[in-house]
Amino acid sequence: MNLLPDFRFLRPTSLDDAVAALAEAPGCRPLAGGTDLLPNLRRGLGEPGALVDLGAVPGMDLIAVEGEQLVLGATARLEDVAASEQVRGRWPVLAEAAATVAGPTHRAAATVGGNLCQDTRCIFYNQSEWWRESNDWCLKHKGAVCHVVPKSDRCYAVYAGDLAPALMVLRAEVEIVGAGGSRRLPIAGLYHEEGRGYLTLAPGEILARVLVPAPAQGTRAGYAKNRVRDAVDFPLAGVAVALRREGDALAGLDVALTGVASAPLMVPGLEGLLGSPWNDQAAKAVGEAVRKGCNAVKSTLAPPKYRRRVASASAVRLAARLWEAYS
Ligand code: FAD
Ligand code: SF4
Repeated sequence: MNLLPDFRFLRPTSLDDAVAALAEAPGCRPLAGGTDLLPNLRRGLGEPGALVDLGAVPGMDLIAVEGEQLVLGATARLEDVAASEQVRGRWPVLAEAAATVAGPTHRAAATVGGNLCQDTRCIFYNQSEWWRESNDWCLKHKGAVCHVVPKSDRCYAVYAGDLAPALMVLRAEVEIVGAGGSRRLPIAGLYHEEGRGYLTLAPGEILARVLVPAPAQGTRAGYAKNRVRDAVDFPLAGVAVALRREGDALAGLDVALTGVASAPLMVPGLEGLLGSPWNDQAAKAVGEAVRKGCNAVKSTLAPPKYRRRVASASAVRLAARLWEAYS
């Protein structure tokens, strides 16, 4: 592996200063826990003129309940999110997802903002510099062709963050801060389904906070992650489900996916199941909707067909478990 490239290291002590620091140098990048960014830089994936460390911005690591909503500062550590009594009590799917990220030492440094903004991944991209060079690079970095879908002018690298699908079924929003002020958008609005420009953040913008509303009364949610090594690994296919049962009918059903496309995705078309019971027909419809919702190609070690099937089966099993938990 290479050494890190040269860069200036800036450590602002306010969010305004962080925004100003990012505007200062072209290509300058925010640095949080560094567990995604630094290994990539050591592989020659980027040469930012400067890194803006967000770790000294006071209060940015907040984990608090304000009114009915959970507020997570962007530099809140994943191990703290996973351990928080408040999160575990009212938003357990979030604690569950945070606890599955990488391994314990990563989670001690890794942050909420870094998890949401982490780079997309591909077997032709997460490789050493000499390996990529010998392959004539690829469209995502320095090259002209995508080796996964050679005729395509887009990149299919996979978004594999664990928090995003959990936050999506919780209908969370993110607060973005930049030179032009701040704005709020639903989590899904943070992403483009494109492996290169996968974030909708403008240059110099920082994800400042995540705002998670209280789940609708009686909602149960869970996260199912499939990976090669349970001790430390990205999801090959991750599924979050939020389900609400009223008597013998589904009153709410949201499913979100990770690891199967260049962005975390909500599964569309489930509204038609509301008002009906969870039964074989509903299970089949959810399985089919998830399969169709995956945009997996050969950009990871596991074949796309396997990832679609595993995502589909996980969603059905998880929904069935959440439904049964009411009885
Ligand atoms: P950083 O590395 O500091 O930043 C990641 C990216 O986000 C950078 O581009 C940075 O510029 C940008 N960024 C950071 N904070 C902000 C912000 N507030 N606003 C705007 N941009 C920002 N991830 C998973 O989700 N699941 C896994 O199972 C998993 N397994 C891993 C296994 C290994 C061996 C390794 C090395 C990594 C793994 N990761 C996994 C990736 C990474 O560890 C996590 O996603 C982690 O949460 C990233 O957070 P960070 O604070 O370290 O981000
Ligand atoms: Fe490169 Fe194609 Fe992989 Fe994107 S999907 S990283 S362009 S090989």
